[in-house]
Amino acid sequence: MFKLIQQDKNSRARIGKLTTSHGEIDTPCFMPVGTQGTVKALSPAELNDAGAQIMLSNAYHLFLRPGIEVIKKAGGLHKFISWYKPILTDSGGYQIFSLALLRKVSDEGVEFQSHIDGLKHFLRPEDVVDIQKNFASDIMMPLDECVHYPCAKDYAEVAMKRTLAWVRRSKVESGLLFGIVQGATYEDLRKECAQRLVEIGFDGYAIGGVSVGEPKNLRYNIINFVAGYLPQEKPRYLMGLGMPQDIFEAVEMGMDMFDCVIPTRYGRNGTAFISSGKITIRNATYTEDFKPLDDKCDCYTCKNFSRAYLRHLFNTDEILGLRLVSWHNVYFYLELMQKIREAIRQDRFIDFKKEFFESYNNKIE
Ligand SMILES: [Zn+2]
Repeated sequence: MFKLIQQDKNSRARIGKLTTSHGEIDTPCFMPVGTQGTVKALSPAELNDAGAQIMLSNAYHLFLRPGIEVIKKAGGLHKFISWYKPILTDSGGYQIFSLALLRKVSDEGVEFQSHIDGLKHFLRPEDVVDIQKNFASDIMMPLDECVHYPCAKDYAEVAMKRTLAWVRRSKVESGLLFGIVQGATYEDLRKECAQRLVEIGFDGYAIGGVSVGEPKNLRYNIINFVAGYLPQEKPRYLMGLGMPQDIFEAVEMGMDMFDCVIPTRYGRNGTAFISSGKITIRNATYTEDFKPLDDKCDCYTCKNFSRAYLRHLFNTDEILGLRLVSWHNVYFYLELMQKIREAIRQDRFIDFKKEFFESYNNKIE
């Protein structure tokens, strides 16, 4: 289901193809996030048009609302949300440990109160996989215990061992399931977790528990370290990280899959990612700026609208403004991944990275 196509000659960057029952995904890939079964402010048609090959959704959120029964009766998540390309569902481990209230964690599972209505739920790792099976997700993630930074080593070890035990119980006969490497910022814990997961054997491996408040150098150190223990022939997914710099660094370390709310969240706030950096479209500088957001971009927004008009939409709280900037941002990310893949194909990833940041850090507007 994963084919490693080519390895860059000057770094650990690689290109591959991941095959699921709903289609193929070229890696390295970016997965737009549709937590509630929708990539905020964009229709599936627009997402498709922007070039998305896969989207991400969240089992915890969809379990709470609308609930498993509704999605099952609808004929699965793809049909319910009208997106017929691959879907990766996150287990919601991260959300249970960050959003839900009053958690009681035991080896058996996790008891928590919904952050929406306060209702109590108890989920075992088996239940979390079952939920995702009912959704008919293409790629499932097991329940994991995610710790924040800083985390004392003894607790990080307890959480890592529990995640391992849970992941063991999550194994499925059908569908793709990834293992998640935890262990906070401790190399020995991360190594042990990665090695145990590889012994059990999964369809892919994810690095979880990053971007939880740790400094950047520690984060990159852990990603680089863990990547060295993951098998070459399986896809590697870096969970929840997605500033352009994070993506470039992690691709260089051999990571294949990324997801992040940043392009749409920033888009809704009027911040656009363009080839010369990030711009805030509300700024007065753009009042009479009739250039597109990014003159190097071919997206619908850039082909049809000016910065002045987008600024006007944001200033008048018009919904179209946040839709158009979100659309551009998602397009920008997906196109960036395409360029990264092309650069790896030509063994010039390192040069491309340099060129990208020469322009991106330049702030010429
Ligand atoms: Zn654009």
